[in-house]
Amino acid sequence: MRAIIRGEERVIIDFHTHIFGPNVRDRRDDYARRDPTFAEMYADPTAKIATADDLLASMDGAGVDVSVALGFAWSDDDDIARHNDYLLESAATGNGRIIPFTTVNIASAAAEAEIARCVAAGTRGLGELRPDSQGWDLNASDGDRLAAVARRHGLVLLLHVTEEGGHEYAGKRGCSLAAFRDFTRRHADLAIVGAHLGGDIYRNNPAPVHVDTAAQPFLYREEEAVAALAAVPPDRLLFGSDYPLISQERALDELRAALTSDERVASAVRGNAEALLGRVSAGPPS
Ligand SMILES: [Zn+2]
Repeated sequence: MRAIIRGEERVIIDFHTHIFGPNVRDRRDDYARRDPTFAEMYADPTAKIATADDLLASMDGAGVDVSVALGFAWSDDDDIARHNDYLLESAATGNGRIIPFTTVNIASAAAEAEIARCVAAGTRGLGELRPDSQGWDLNASDGDRLAAVARRHGLVLLLHVTEEGGHEYAGKRGCSLAAFRDFTRRHADLAIVGAHLGGDIYRNNPAPVHVDTAAQPFLYREEEAVAALAAVPPDRLLFGSDYPLISQERALDELRAALTSDERVASAVRGNAEALLGRVSAGPPS
């Protein structure tokens, strides 16, 4: 395990944050014109875009020690590579506080070389993956290739998962609960995280995967959130804020309010993430 455990002090890990380079923040309109998924989520000038410096400042304020910073499901290979460079540089200069998960479009001919490049530079996982946004099928040959490459490099896969029903919001689509469930069952040996409580998979024909709490206050009403969280096995829940969509401070407060025991909170903010990332640094299962 590298750079996660810092002595005996309390450590809080946020498993789901988004950062972009200053060039994306400053040229939002250009990026929105050429990438439909980016446009859906960020063309609105009030949609927050954070850099690594913003994230580190947020972490200081909220008492978060380590954040997983995720890539974005760009359609263009150059945008993917540029964003991956930024995530890897931010991690390299972040004093162990930023763990990079890089982006990939597995349907692209450039994907496997890009993944190998990112692995050599320290990426720990691939995400936030949105097969539907990039136009590939999680449960056909592209998804099998993704699974094989994750297995070979010992990478965690973090997928956006759309809950069934509920209200509409920008960026809701990307990977259906049914497709996610099928994929996890076909590749049960992999470390897979379903974002947004995995689309509430633990109350809908569960499969044994990790789920994060990203954007949970936006997706579920309060009493529904309590029930959805209660259904997740204690060793499968990961604290994730979806920063900067939701402040890390608010996300932590809501998690602590919704969970029934200190042990559950401790495993969500630390133990489960360490177990997953430790498994990665220990290499793929032999
Ligand atoms: Zn998402």
